Amino acid sequence: MTKMSRNELPIIVSGGGIGGLACALALAQKRFRVLVCEQAPRFGQVGAGLQVAPNALSVLDALGVGADIKRQALLIEQMLMMDGISGESVGVIPCGSEFQQRFGNPYGVAHRADVHGALLEACERHPLVELRTDSKIIRYEQDGNVVTITTDAGATLRASALVGADGVHSRIRQQLIGDGDSVPIGAVIYRALVPASHMPRELQHPYPTLWTGPDAHLIYYPVRDWSQFNVGATVRTGDGEMRDGEASPEEAAAAFADWAPEPRRVLSLAPVFQRYVLRQRAPIPNWTAGRVTLLGDAAHPMVQYIAQGAAMALEDAISLATELDAADGACGQAFQRYQDVRIVRSARVQISSLMLDRIYHAGGVERLVRNSVFAGRTPSEYYDRLAWLFTAPAYVRQWHSSPDCVGGADDMHMSANREERDEATRQPPAC
Ligand SMILES: Cc1cc2nc3c(=O)[nH]c(=O)nc-3n(C[C@H](O)[C@H](O)[C@H](O)COP(=O)(O)OP(=O)(O)OC[C@H]3O[C@@H](n4cnc5c(N)ncnc54)[C@H](O)[C@@H]3O)c2cc1C
Repeated sequence: MTKMSRNELPIIVSGGGIGGLACALALAQKRFRVLVCEQAPRFGQVGAGLQVAPNALSVLDALGVGADIKRQALLIEQMLMMDGISGESVGVIPCGSEFQQRFGNPYGVAHRADVHGALLEACERHPLVELRTDSKIIRYEQDGNVVTITTDAGATLRASALVGADGVHSRIRQQLIGDGDSVPIGAVIYRALVPASHMPRELQHPYPTLWTGPDAHLIYYPVRDWSQFNVGATVRTGDGEMRDGEASPEEAAAAFADWAPEPRRVLSLAPVFQRYVLRQRAPIPNWTAGRVTLLGDAAHPMVQYIAQGAAMALEDAISLATELDAADGACGQAFQRYQDVRIVRSARVQISSLMLDRIYHAGGVERLVRNSVFAGRTPSEYYDRLAWLFTAPAYVRQWHSSPDCVGGADDMHMSANREERDEATRQPPAC
């Protein structure tokens, strides 16, 4: 065991996405040594835009990277839902000072790479985090004390515990739960980045605009200092065979032919789209076995309609590290406690995401009913309905006041050089 860490063998995190990196950072801030194994040749993120709700920003604040991300993100004035057919407004949720006071943070839209990059940088700076690329974990074995992990290159690694943060096609889940691959939901999303110079002035809004309509919805918002707009068009396809890949603007626009001019205009601005088949799984009552557990999309993949998948992975990270800290490194006990804490909340988000499928994609009379339900709703009525989701859970809010926060977010940020940081992590826990 190094002088400064609490564990002799590292905890291995399989997957260096937003969830895996947040988990590594949270564990390191509780003085656990972590090795992140990422299958790709470099750490990065597929896709462009990411909505960062207040509960996600609260996790990022707790981990010490929130300020960086908020500087790069657009902190939006409002969320706007439009009827894609009539082009009229259906509902507006103001995200100004009242919203921020209620939920402790604004609502941001960011480039994924900015969120992932801030976590990666913090992990690179932390002496207790080791990062490895080209390292695909394909199976594990465990006895009472050790988890032995095999990579696709045939290497064997020994760990005190394994966290499967390897995404929607998780290998660790395959072995742990054995419930096959995630299931296509019968919908695809067409994604593109449009340079801001191509976006007409009257369509350049400082917030996401969401158009909903029969069997499809479209959202777009600015990212990266307004240099680009992230466009995502979701289309129900039924049981038809669909694959991930490049798609023409004509294909993406086909389902929107009868829509109002603005959404059609936005769709016409991208020269090419990337098509992704949307997948999900039903919630499960267990994702832990002994010293092995799951986190993020590996544990609870969801459709993106509620824009909370990354937020849930971030919350998982803090919850897992809190429990491991409280159990003083006793993984079996801590991982059980972590899943008990997280299952109901993450399952509620999975289920709520799917319910939005019906609300967003309503047609006929259902669409009129939807519009009438939202019409006239006051901001505080919206806030009350969103409070369960946007309010950071207690373990996130209490992260700063943890008695074991030596080497924590604030310390690590303020200690610019490695000697100082090493010194900080060698001190007995006290803050
Ligand atoms: C279209 C779309 C829009 C979305 N929008 C939002 C949004 O606005 N806000 C939000 O909060 N969420 C959003 N989400 C959800 C969010 O993207 C995911 O929930 C989140 O990225 C999950 O993070 P993760 O770290 O669990 O998994 P991932 O980001 O998938 O990361 C998994 C990592 O593991 C690696 N890996 C995989 N297998 C192995 C292996 N065997 N060994 C080693 N490494 C491995 C992968 O290469 C990858 O780097 C959206 C999702 C989609 C599809």
